[in-house]
Amino acid sequence: MFLSERMKSIKPSPTLAMNAKALAMRAAGIDVISFGVGEPDFDTARHIREEAVRAMEEGFTRYTAVGGIPELKDAIIEKFRSDNSLSYERDEVMVSCGGKHVLYNLAQALLNPGDEVIIPAPYWVSYPPVVILAGADPVIVETEEIEDFKLSPESLERAVTPQTKLLILNSPSNPTGSVYTESELEGLAQVILKHHIWVLSDEIYEKLIFDDRPFSSIAQVSDEVKSRTVVLNGLSKTYAMTGWRIGYGAGPREIIAGMAKIQSQSTSNPNSIAQKAAVAALKGPQDSIRAMVRAFDERRKYLVQRLNVMTGVHCNVPGGAFYGFPNVSYYFNATTEGTTIKGSADLCEYLLAKARVALVPGIAFGDDDFIRFSYATGLETIKEGLDRIEDALGKLV
Ligand SMILES: *Cc1c(COP(=O)(O)O)cnc(C)c1O
Repeated sequence: MFLSERMKSIKPSPTLAMNAKALAMRAAGIDVISFGVGEPDFDTARHIREEAVRAMEEGFTRYTAVGGIPELKDAIIEKFRSDNSLSYERDEVMVSCGGKHVLYNLAQALLNPGDEVIIPAPYWVSYPPVVILAGADPVIVETEEIEDFKLSPESLERAVTPQTKLLILNSPSNPTGSVYTESELEGLAQVILKHHIWVLSDEIYEKLIFDDRPFSSIAQVSDEVKSRTVVLNGLSKTYAMTGWRIGYGAGPREIIAGMAKIQSQSTSNPNSIAQKAAVAALKGPQDSIRAMVRAFDERRKYLVQRLNVMTGVHCNVPGGAFYGFPNVSYYFNATTEGTTIKGSADLCEYLLAKARVALVPGIAFGDDDFIRFSYATGLETIKEGLDRIEDALGKLV
């Protein structure tokens, strides 16, 4: 084979693969309802789009500084100051081509072969492959549904070895919607400091949070914890800007410099026009976020309530993000037309074929008992999709 061993060690993103399958069915004229996509169904706000047009018209179309234009770095620094009471200097923040790219740069800048990275499951699909691509080993630590899928200090402590280099935390979580409280983060921080572990805190869903729950970042626990943390955030989810590819990281300057070096030899700067738009997003009116959260909240309540009255389905109430993550293991070993549903992937195949509903199997997130619903789609569509699912599940025996 002429392809690299590295390439063979990972699979393509299962969420994007599911989306592709649903799109192909739709192109073939089948009315598929998709709960698969991990992006807001809203348009980027007008003032942000207008800023991009202006940037283009004014000729802001050349290379920029690798780690982002000073104006955007300053807007990011101001965001951390006002939202999170965290202070960073310009050389402690950098802009990348989406939040995913922040993760990639960090893994390349920090990890050596043999290093272990603790990843609580259920996890976002990209964490293990990005760790593997850096030559390091993902150490998956399971969490419990009854503990709202949160990592406890005890189970973190048990997973630590002399090889442990990094912990990846994600709050609010994709796929579970769980939100860590300040005191839970303090408990984890103690273990982190004791063992001198680095932390990647993925805060991409920071603003998509419900019931007036406060958002806490582990970097806020103390200056000492902040000095061991790289925060990942970005514009994709908060401002419905997934296609613009702007994310950012903040952390210790040596690490940020390493990440910038990796970026300088791979993508160079993120898109210049999108950077200008990002400044407008961060500094402009924030009411589009509130409107989006209100719409997500209504759908969240409806989805969870409907799921929890379905036979054999149980769904925790997600505190943030735009996903429901119900336990559907009741249906495993059920049969349909002679075939047995063995796990979440089989169940998703069945629901796609019989109910024409696209979902992502929990196994993609490291827990086979669940399936993930993205409710980034209109309420009427959610209703219709749930009706179809309820009907199809009722046919399993
Ligand atoms: C969507 C997402 C990201 C980053 O997405 P980008 O589009 O690359 O900014 C990061 N982490 C999680 C958990 C996500 O769901």
